[in-house]
Amino acid sequence: MTVDVLVVGAGLAGLHTATLLARRGHDVLLTERRATLPGAIRTTGIFVRRTLDDFPLPPEHLGPPIRRVVLHPPGCGRPVSLVSARDEYRVGDMGPLYAAAARAAADAGVRIALGTRYAGRQDGASLLAGPDGPARVRARFVVGADGARSRVARDLGLDRNDHLLIGAEEVFAVLGSERPPAFHCVLDPSLAPGYLAWVVNDGRHAHVGVAGYADRFPEGMRRALARFSGSAPGLEGVERPEAVERRGGPIPVGGLLRRISCPDGLLVGDAAGAVSPLTAGGLDPCLRLSEHAVDVLDAAVRAGRPDVLASYDGAALRAAFRGRLALRRGLAQVRTPAVATAAFALLRTPPGRAAARRILFGDRSFPTP
Ligand SMILES: Cc1cc2nc3c(=O)[nH]c(=O)nc-3n(C[C@H](O)[C@H](O)[C@H](O)COP(=O)(O)OP(=O)(O)OC[C@H]3O[C@@H](n4cnc5c(N)ncnc54)[C@H](O)[C@@H]3O)c2cc1C
Repeated sequence: MTVDVLVVGAGLAGLHTATLLARRGHDVLLTERRATLPGAIRTTGIFVRRTLDDFPLPPEHLGPPIRRVVLHPPGCGRPVSLVSARDEYRVGDMGPLYAAAARAAADAGVRIALGTRYAGRQDGASLLAGPDGPARVRARFVVGADGARSRVARDLGLDRNDHLLIGAEEVFAVLGSERPPAFHCVLDPSLAPGYLAWVVNDGRHAHVGVAGYADRFPEGMRRALARFSGSAPGLEGVERPEAVERRGGPIPVGGLLRRISCPDGLLVGDAAGAVSPLTAGGLDPCLRLSEHAVDVLDAAVRAGRPDVLASYDGAALRAAFRGRLALRRGLAQVRTPAVATAAFALLRTPPGRAAARRILFGDRSFPTP
């Protein structure tokens, strides 16, 4: 098979890239190893205000707006509540949202091969392994949208993520609640070493999760999640069902990678390290970087000039992450509950609260090239 662009991975980055390329008239094949898109979801699905403002996500697949963030120290005593005057977050119902994105891709003309794994490159062709057996695809360009541990990045000789957190969460439906939707974050390195434990309860679904450096969970991540879900804040009066959906995966937090393109293709989303090193949010970055990738690929295909891909340069964009990388290094240093409690004292001061508001409710997002 011969195509203009082969996109590997139908997460949000791959779906968005493939759809926009097809809308510009290119012949696109999107290949995804999962057999169904609503299966094995790897994200909580919290969309920030900037994304909701700038991208037309289907409102029927978004939960109620959240304005309240509650920050908890270890042990969850005396939390700090921050309330925004604006709607700050909405949690996507990710199964239907991926399915809607796949329908949009198919409507635009993308050929989607589910249950089909990208298995490597040979003599300039990509090897796929699908339900009908192996196939070889010749694409002018390959897009690695295959997540944090990208095989495409390896095969194209591009940079790869080496600074990763791992995260896991439980998701379950809640019956309508009297309380306002809220996002609870717990700063406790015994539960979430180097990051946060969280509860998002928007009145429709509850997400209870932990994330951190894999080798620093005192008893492993699964146990940390079990311990947290037994005492998590924000779920008073909520009944946790026996069966819950479980999600999890790696989160690259080393900042955008430097070398994310070569004459044969480029990387988008987690594969490119396009995740905020501080908040670990990757949904907004993956949408924005995909749009830049589409501009570059469109120009390269039209001109028949692979060298155009050199303008897709992670090193140039990475400068915008300097502050967030420094804060990530700071968060990584919070290694004991005592240090977390001391750091939390700063959050109770007016400058500490103002800094937290800037991070949680600010207008910054992924840099526009
Ligand atoms: C537990 C957790 C919670 C998170 N919560 C949030 C959040 O609330 N808000 C936020 O902004 N960010 C969040 N993130 C980060 C965010 O989810 C990611 O940055 C974002 O989803 C990345 O999208 P992507 O399309 O690049 O990658 P992915 O969604 O990982 O998609 C990659 C796709 O490639 C496929 N694939 C991989 N290898 C192959 C192969 N060889 N062949 C074919 N297909 C392949 C995979 O099956 C997958 O479907 C979270 C991450 C985790 C782990």
